[in-house]
Amino acid sequence: MEYKKGYICRCCGEFHEELPMSYGSDAPVYFYYMPEEERENRVEMNDDLCVIDDEHFFIKGCIEIPVLDGEGPFIWEVWVSLSETNFEETIEYWETEGRENKLEPMFGWLSTSLPCYPDTVNHKTMVHTREVGYKPYIELEPTDHPLAVVQRDGINLNRIQEIAEEICNENNQGTDKL
Ligand SMILES: [Zn+2]
Repeated sequence: MEYKKGYICRCCGEFHEELPMSYGSDAPVYFYYMPEEERENRVEMNDDLCVIDDEHFFIKGCIEIPVLDGEGPFIWEVWVSLSETNFEETIEYWETEGRENKLEPMFGWLSTSLPCYPDTVNHKTMVHTREVGYKPYIELEPTDHPLAVVQRDGINLNRIQEIAEEICNENNQGTDKL
């Protein structure tokens, strides 16, 4: 198998040296719905966790997609909601060795709007806690949604390049942030 080294972008026409294999979102979609001047007072957030209005709880995790013709996985870092109980349990075990064996998979609503796919917000997911230091694995409910399909069946490098070109188009820069 060969890792794809660089490509000529059909969006901007430039040669990009690296094909991005992961994209991340800085905040749950509800943060962006909020008027900018309210965000500071209503949102508590770090790189992994987010609380909005003291009553909506989110964790950041990884939708990992097997790559069929190269090194993988391809990763979307996304936010999902958690119940208050599950959120508190997650925090309680944050630094606990072996937490991945102690915490059951948790239900969450996908709370990131991904480009390149039909609406992803509120897709059902299960959040699988991993070892300390690793973001949880996000398992999409196995529906017919194209994102759920590729999580099951995998993706190829050509499609990953198309995604890079589409995101290049949207942001007009070579960023890996959504
Ligand atoms: Zn480009």
